[in-house]
Amino acid sequence: MIKKQITIAIDGYSACGKSTLAKDLAKKLSFIFIDSGAMYRGVALYCLQNNLFNADGTPKQVEIIQALKNITLSFQLINDNNCLILNGKNVEELIRGTEVAAVVSKIATIKEVRVKLVMKQQIMGANGGIVMEGRDIGSVVFPKAEFKLFITASQEIRAQRRYLELKSKGIEAKINEISSNLAERDLMDSSRKESPLIQVADAIVMDNSKLTREEQLDFVLNLIRNLV
Ligand code: C5P
Repeated sequence: MIKKQITIAIDGYSACGKSTLAKDLAKKLSFIFIDSGAMYRGVALYCLQNNLFNADGTPKQVEIIQALKNITLSFQLINDNNCLILNGKNVEELIRGTEVAAVVSKIATIKEVRVKLVMKQQIMGANGGIVMEGRDIGSVVFPKAEFKLFITASQEIRAQRRYLELKSKGIEAKINEISSNLAERDLMDSSRKESPLIQVADAIVMDNSKLTREEQLDFVLNLIRNLV
C-alpha cells in the first residue's frame, strides 16, 4: 500500500528521546528521518575547530556569519546510521561529544545560522514523507505539518538516558554535568529571541518518562493511522 507522504514534526526538550522515536517512525513508514539538532551541532563544531569563540565563551558572531558560506552540511547513511557530513567529513561522533553540547545552544541563537539551516531543512522536506525532530520544527520549519508532536520527560530520566547513550558510544561524562548541560540548553533554547522552543497549539503532547521505546512508537502510530 502506498503511504501518504505526510510531514511529521517532533519538538521537545533536550534528550527526550526525540531522535529515537523519529528514527523508529521513519523506519516504520519508510520516510526520511532528519535530526535537525545534528545540523546545529555541525555548525558549532565548525566554530570550535576554527577558533570562532571569544575567550569568555561567547561566539564571534560577525565572523561566524561570514563563515557560514564555507559550511556545507549533509547526511549520509553509514552502517544504518544517519551520519552528519561537515565539509565532506563524517563528524557524527565528534558532534555528540560534551565539547559541542556545551556550546551548541549559543550558536543556535544566531539568526543567520537559523535562516541557513531552516532553509536547508525545508528543502529536505519539500516533498513530504519526512520525520524531522528539533526545537522549531512545528513552529517555524514546517508550520503546516500534518502531524506535530511535543515530547517531554522528567529531567532525571533525560539525564540518565543521555548518560547511557554517551557511555554506549564510549564517551565518558558525569551524570550531574549532563543534567546541568541539559537544563542550561533547555533554558537557552526556550528563552532565546530567534524561534525559541515552544509547544505549538496544534501539537500533541507526549510525556515518555514511563514509556518504553516500543510503547512510544505504538502511541504515535495509533495517532497517525488515519493520516498515512
Ligand atoms: O537535538 P539536539 O539536542 O542534538 O540539539 C542540539 C541543540 O541544537 C539544541 O540544544 C538547540 O540549541 C539547537 N537546536 C535548535 N533548533 C533545532 C534543533 C536543535 O535550536 N531545530
